[in-house]
Amino acid sequence: MDLAHDESLRSPDQNDGEEQKSTSEQTVQGSAIPYTTIFEHMPDALLALDMQGRITYLNHQTESFLQKTRAQLLGSSIWEAIPKIRDTPLFQNCQQAKTTGKTVSFEYLSSAVNKWFHVHIYPSEEGVCVYFQDITERKQAEERLHQSEKHFRALIENSADGIALTDMHGVITYASPSTTRMVGYLPEEFVGGRIFGRKDYPDGGEATRRLMARVLEEPRKSQLLEFRTGHKNGTFIWMEVTGINLLDEPGVEAIVWNFRDVTERKQLEQEVAKAKEQLEAILNNVADGIVVADANNSLVYVNDVAARMTGFPSAAAMLAAPQSAFGERLRRFATWDEQGRPLPFKERPGFQASQGKKAHALVLYQDTLADQGYWTLMRAQPIFDAQAQVQFVVSVFTDITEQKEFEQRKDHFISMASHELKTPLAILSAFTQLLRERFEAEDRQDVMLHLSKMDDQITRLTKLVADLLDISKMQAGKLELAQEAVDMDELLREVVDNLQPTTTHRLLVEGAAHRSITGDRDRLGQVLMNLLTNAIKYSPQAETVVVRVAQTRDTLTVSVQDFGIGIAQSHQEKLFERFYRVYSEKDQTYPGLGIGLYIAHEIIRRHGGKMWVDSVEGKGSIFSFSLPIR
Ligand code: ADP
Repeated sequence: MDLAHDESLRSPDQNDGEEQKSTSEQTVQGSAIPYTTIFEHMPDALLALDMQGRITYLNHQTESFLQKTRAQLLGSSIWEAIPKIRDTPLFQNCQQAKTTGKTVSFEYLSSAVNKWFHVHIYPSEEGVCVYFQDITERKQAEERLHQSEKHFRALIENSADGIALTDMHGVITYASPSTTRMVGYLPEEFVGGRIFGRKDYPDGGEATRRLMARVLEEPRKSQLLEFRTGHKNGTFIWMEVTGINLLDEPGVEAIVWNFRDVTERKQLEQEVAKAKEQLEAILNNVADGIVVADANNSLVYVNDVAARMTGFPSAAAMLAAPQSAFGERLRRFATWDEQGRPLPFKERPGFQASQGKKAHALVLYQDTLADQGYWTLMRAQPIFDAQAQVQFVVSVFTDITEQKEFEQRKDHFISMASHELKTPLAILSAFTQLLRERFEAEDRQDVMLHLSKMDDQITRLTKLVADLLDISKMQAGKLELAQEAVDMDELLREVVDNLQPTTTHRLLVEGAAHRSITGDRDRLGQVLMNLLTNAIKYSPQAETVVVRVAQTRDTLTVSVQDFGIGIAQSHQEKLFERFYRVYSEKDQTYPGLGIGLYIAHEIIRRHGGKMWVDSVEGKGSIFSFSLPIR
């Protein structure tokens, strides 16, 4: 084949009648450069075959592509020299070019050199000229593009979110399968239609129109809307849609819509809102006032009862009130503790809870404007965050004015009754004494025995009345304590000596105080007496009661240990309360009113001391108190 005679390779102004030279000798018109020089320097492979398929020319690039030298190939049939080529599209297409006389072009991957070629086969009378253009790089770029498109398509098609594209009129040009899945339609039922155009958007019409307007007005700014739409199956679903106008973005030229099914979240939100409503209804209907404050003492929640207690018409009014108005309202209330002392701020349960402690207090709220008092049980509890810091303080106020008034009437009655009983008892005691003296002189042992029993009961009754009177005094804050030097060792000896003849228990004293304390001798004696008589009373099977005295530099501690019935843990906290008794099958036979420990505890407290109990049920108890040594 003669390349120079190939029409397709000839330049348009090439002269037909030009004298023919061999391929190697022919030059480019108007220059001295032979064609072969150009062919040799071409980046592409060039191959000329005659009608029999013999190679008449191949350039340098073709050598490396066919992996054979020019000397090996020139003159021989390509199909025989490289039989494998017969199986490639090259063979077929060469035949086709030859028979049709038309140029054939195709793309072809050479497995021998692992390269892609765009092949052009130009037919001529002498045979064919084959031109291999290396397009590997372009192909690889195409492949990468294809891969990445596949990648993104897979992402879009498999994303839980729905993605749709529309033009500026809202006409859908693409809808991802998840978009249509969410509403139960097929993509083809969507594409071509108008976004938000379906009639089943029950209440989104106006909102979606405004969304569309916003999207169009502000290109590249994402706009969000939650709306309710219909599913093909007739149910409703909540959608969160984001639209972004990328109409002016080359290659996108669309509005991109992202849909998310938020039905579950919406349902949860509605349930939470409903539960909150119910809870508020409950909290507003309880009799207690409830206030929740955060760590900065700002109100978070308050119910109607609490609002009314503080002089606001409703919870909403209280929450809306500025801090100043709030403070003003509160200033009209004075707070007193049970003993009638002003309650220091730091002792308020709310303050205690803000410091992380659960607390309660019985408080008299005095509305100074209305001149009205409310007895309130204040309870406060801290709520901690994950870092164990106080996050909220929940305070509950229970109005116990009525209960308190009733209790006061009862206390008043006890006080009056004890007073009324005191005089006849004193008279009875005096007359018993008189009778004893008389019958003793007559040596009437039988009557003496009866009189002694009578005297015991009168003493018991007198003690009871005295205890009741003490309680009344304590309640009214009228218990007076003497301030004298008390030798505790001597006092203890005296109490033990008085008690020992009346019991079969051995009363043992261990340790000594060696120092006096300041206080009321009689009242401290009463405390020791109470603890010792209890120890004897509640250990009927035991033989001993041990009293221990110990002291440090500034405190004196006395403990009374018995080996009796003991006290269950659940009762121990309440033992020192007024009228508290432990009732159980076993100790129902023990007489008493549950006031001895209350009185003892109060006396010690009023001396600036502490009283506590350590006890194991069935093993015994240790009641202790400590007093400051002044
Ligand atoms: P009471 O007159 O009932 O003994 P107290 O106030 O002295 O009243 O005691 C209150 C309750 O504490 C008693 O009813 C009893 O259940 C319990 N208690 C007091 N001391 C002891 C003790 N040493 N051992 C067991 N229980 C005791």
